[in-house]
Amino acid sequence: MKEYTNHPLRALNSFHVDEYAARIIEFDNPDELDTIFARENAPEQWYTLGGGNNILFTGRYEGTLIHPTGRGIEVMAEDDSSLTIRVEAGVEWDDMVAWCVERGLWGAENLSLIPGSVGASPVQNIGAYGAEAKDIIERVYLFDTHTLQHCSLSNDECHFAYRDSIFKRELRGRAIITAVDFKLSKIASPNLGYGDLSREVESRGGATLQNIREAVCAIRRSKLPDTAILGNAGSFFKNPIVESSVADALLASYPDMPSYPATEGRRKLAAGWLIDRAGMKGHRQGSVGVHDRQALVLVNFGGATGGDVMALAAAVQEAVYAKFGVRIEPEVNVL
Ligand SMILES: Cc1cc2nc3c(=O)[nH]c(=O)nc-3n(C[C@H](O)[C@H](O)[C@H](O)COP(=O)(O)OP(=O)(O)OC[C@H]3O[C@@H](n4cnc5c(N)ncnc54)[C@H](O)[C@@H]3O)c2cc1C
Repeated sequence: MKEYTNHPLRALNSFHVDEYAARIIEFDNPDELDTIFARENAPEQWYTLGGGNNILFTGRYEGTLIHPTGRGIEVMAEDDSSLTIRVEAGVEWDDMVAWCVERGLWGAENLSLIPGSVGASPVQNIGAYGAEAKDIIERVYLFDTHTLQHCSLSNDECHFAYRDSIFKRELRGRAIITAVDFKLSKIASPNLGYGDLSREVESRGGATLQNIREAVCAIRRSKLPDTAILGNAGSFFKNPIVESSVADALLASYPDMPSYPATEGRRKLAAGWLIDRAGMKGHRQGSVGVHDRQALVLVNFGGATGGDVMALAAAVQEAVYAKFGVRIEPEVNVL
């Protein structure tokens, strides 16, 4: 366990805003959480920080950031068709994907190159190219800061949904995820139904695990700005889910508007398309802007504060609402 005070956060958030945390505690072994939360100076205000790829700091964080650093991957079970691994929260998500692909294990490949830690993956049920973390998560291990107990939840108990889970709802501010069990398939099961993935995979010679991973990485690199060069947190907004009647009314005015079936009686709209058609793609406001190739992504051109990003986000939300009457909400966690 390591503890630092007045710690700079610039390198710990992908927007690269220059804020500080009053205290940050790194833990390697989940048992260290017993000590951190049981002792006299247990943090009253705290927040779990993974890789900081989905967090916007809008000021100094006055509490304690809890940062998992455990990096183990262990095989827990195996049969003819599957392998179950337990992965510690501090493992880089893409390192785990690479680990699976190298061993011929199917299920994680479409989620290649999503930045962040394994511990954060169940929180918003990360997803891309027609796959979601929930498709391979078997069990999530956590420390409950209310009961001070270590426990685990099955996939069903996590209440996964689109960019959503129990960790964003009932267990928000309560659970610290320490490890996740993933069940991968040994049987080839390519999932190429999404966007231009199939064409990219074919151009590499067919649907092998390695080709799918390379295709996903290539598409992502061509579409998304590199956080090392241009601070951003990926998609800043969630795709809004609206009543089908609302989608139908919009489609009557905008027949080319993309929309996808969601839960019963509802449809998912593409926030990027709405932002683009509201005239905000490429819009710049001082040191921040809407990316000119990917309207869902807000970027820090250098020196922006979290407040600058939030002012831009509000302007984008207003423009979309004024044109379409649809409210788009941040996917990013604002602190
Ligand atoms: C360029 C770019 C592209 C992206 N593309 C995608 C994409 O395609 N699909 C997608 O779904 N997301 C995408 N994202 C968002 C991001 O990758 C995910 O949200 C990822 O899970 C963040 O991981 P992190 O470790 O950085 O989490 P953080 O940003 O540190 O934290 C995110 C949230 O999870 C909580 N959290 C983190 N670790 C734990 C833990 N161990 N226990 C409990 N809570 C925890 C935090 O408190 C916070 O609420 C992208 C981000 C960027 C910058």
